[in-house]
Amino acid sequence: MDRDRSTVWHPYAAMPGTVDPTPVIGAEGARLHLADGRRVVDGMSSWWAAIHGYRHPVLDAAVSDQLDDMAHVMFGGLTHGPAVELAEALVEITPEGLEHVFLADSGSVSVEVAMKMALQYARGVGRDGRDRFLTVRGGYHGDTLHAMSVCDPVNGMHRMFAGVLPEQLFAPVPRPRFDETCTDEDVAELRALLTADADRIAAVILEPIVQGAGGMRFYAPGYLRRVRALCDEFEVLLIADEIATGFGRSGRLFACEHADVSPDILCLGKALTGGYVSMAATLCTSEVARGVTAADSGALMHGPTFMGNPLASAVSLASVRLLLSRDWQSEVGGIESGLRSGLDHASSIDGVVDVRVLGAIGVIERDEPVDMEVATQVSLDHGVWLRPFGRLVYAMPPFVATAEDIASITAAMVAVAESA
Ligand SMILES: *Cc1c(COP(=O)(O)O)cnc(C)c1O
Repeated sequence: MDRDRSTVWHPYAAMPGTVDPTPVIGAEGARLHLADGRRVVDGMSSWWAAIHGYRHPVLDAAVSDQLDDMAHVMFGGLTHGPAVELAEALVEITPEGLEHVFLADSGSVSVEVAMKMALQYARGVGRDGRDRFLTVRGGYHGDTLHAMSVCDPVNGMHRMFAGVLPEQLFAPVPRPRFDETCTDEDVAELRALLTADADRIAAVILEPIVQGAGGMRFYAPGYLRRVRALCDEFEVLLIADEIATGFGRSGRLFACEHADVSPDILCLGKALTGGYVSMAATLCTSEVARGVTAADSGALMHGPTFMGNPLASAVSLASVRLLLSRDWQSEVGGIESGLRSGLDHASSIDGVVDVRVLGAIGVIERDEPVDMEVATQVSLDHGVWLRPFGRLVYAMPPFVATAEDIASITAAMVAVAESA
């Protein structure tokens, strides 16, 4: 623990570390094996990623089979089966019109690539001066600099990086909740921003239906449909960031399907590899690809060293096929009803302001932030790994979690919410 504290950075952490992390020595199915001998249910799917659970035999085999061929080769000038098959599979299962795939090495990079595509597209089609992005408040798109610039300006790191981040345009948090209708009034400010500044805007970027790390909110499909219509009206591209929502998490394979909407550019990550290694993807339409390629450079100016990594591609392909071969709708539907019944009474807890569930995502929102150290202890004592942030106690379990696992998770969430 001393060596960890003095040497290794953890996410959003001080150096040296101020809080002891929990040592893990293994994981299997929906469980993490802690160094102290406890086996706890993972309520977080390692941040949305491990949808099939840990050490899945099919995914393990995909990695070891690929190791027999090669772990990695550069992607400049070379190609290989796993990358091509993965790209084809993603085109096949994602919303209509997305035809081309850029394999990036993390979610934030896929957002950078999406934004770069939009900027190059603007240049390629002669819409110079479109260098800004329009988004909604309450969003999260990653931690690299351009991705940060479209994160929520209050929750995000805008103040710290004022003067460094490009200044983007922000519409209010989508108001209508998932099951509410969306009115003209709800998109009035978005429309006003587009009316005033469309000729400066390369794209609208947002998380469809589920705003993740920016506040865990679920908004109305009707809102997303109106955003799509406004983008068409003002000839602005729409970037959908489905890094958290992709691959069934919200109850549809992709959250855009709730609204029957296709974006011009789509970002995928997190569950793409089934949580095995880091990989992400940026998909775009043929129209976007044509515009990007028509720009001066004649090419998309991005190419990470580990682009299209064969191990990551092979395990992603196996994870996608495994998901489609399972009755994932029933699994996610079962988790949804388990979360709903387990969190049923949470809204009456002192200090709880909202409880919401969509697909395999459950959220308790409090009026005050939780104490992380207390929360960790309380949830581990309930046999569950949770990682609340701020005022939000939430879970997105692996799809392989059983009804008992979900009951443990909701009991732990309630206990954490009560622990204040
Ligand atoms: C996690 C996340 C990202 C960033 O992905 P990383 O792999 O952490 O870089 C971007 N957008 C959304 C919606 C995310 O949930």
